[in-house]
Amino acid sequence: MAKLTRKISESTIHRLSIYYRALVALERDNYTTISSKELAKREKLTPAQVRKDLSFFGSFGTRGLGYPVAELKNRIAEILGLTRLWNVALIGVGNIGSALAQYKEFAKQGFNIKLVFDNDQRKIGSNHKGIIVSDIRDFKRLVQAEKVDIVIIAVPAQAAQAICDEVVSAGIKAILNFAPINLKVPDDVILRNQNMCIELEHLAFALSNPGN
Ligand code: ATP
Repeated sequence: MAKLTRKISESTIHRLSIYYRALVALERDNYTTISSKELAKREKLTPAQVRKDLSFFGSFGTRGLGYPVAELKNRIAEILGLTRLWNVALIGVGNIGSALAQYKEFAKQGFNIKLVFDNDQRKIGSNHKGIIVSDIRDFKRLVQAEKVDIVIIAVPAQAAQAICDEVVSAGIKAILNFAPINLKVPDDVILRNQNMCIELEHLAFALSNPGN
């Protein structure tokens, strides 16, 4: 695994994901090199920003020739932790949870949903839309046995903090939360929130305030 010599900001990590997708597409289209100018244009960024972001990888790229597409893609994949598989467990097989459990892109990107949990007796043990649902009471034992790295929480807001505490006490260090609530986690646990209402509010704001 590549070691970073500097701390990377969240916004840079976000752009690295964007570059990674662009490089995958470029490689598919048989590009062997790409200049910072071209990459910037494709992603509506400035060439200076691209060069600054990619400077994390040391002196990558040759002046005049640009960056080698395949090598740069592989380096970014290493930095983003995409060169290995990640075991994922999901809690809450409601509408959102079952949609996520069936989302094929996760596996393609190396995120393997190995376990799905619920506390509803009608769902537990059943083949719920193609997924065998485990009892939340077996959470700790199963996630440890399956070496789960990341947990997705998709339970209702009122159940989410208690579930989150259970996840943390099972030793999980990375959580993706879909419940519309601010969860509290210890400093050594990474929490990302996916609140779709907030995303829609951003769009509503943009539509209500054109040009802002
Ligand atoms: P549905 O129509 O299946 O109820 P929903 O998305 O409206 O879907 P929610 O009330 O948001 O349902 O609950 C999502 C899922 O979380 C449900 O399957 C529910 O059984 C499950 N759930 C709720 N509380 C817990 C809990 N404490 N532990 C595990 N699963 C839970």
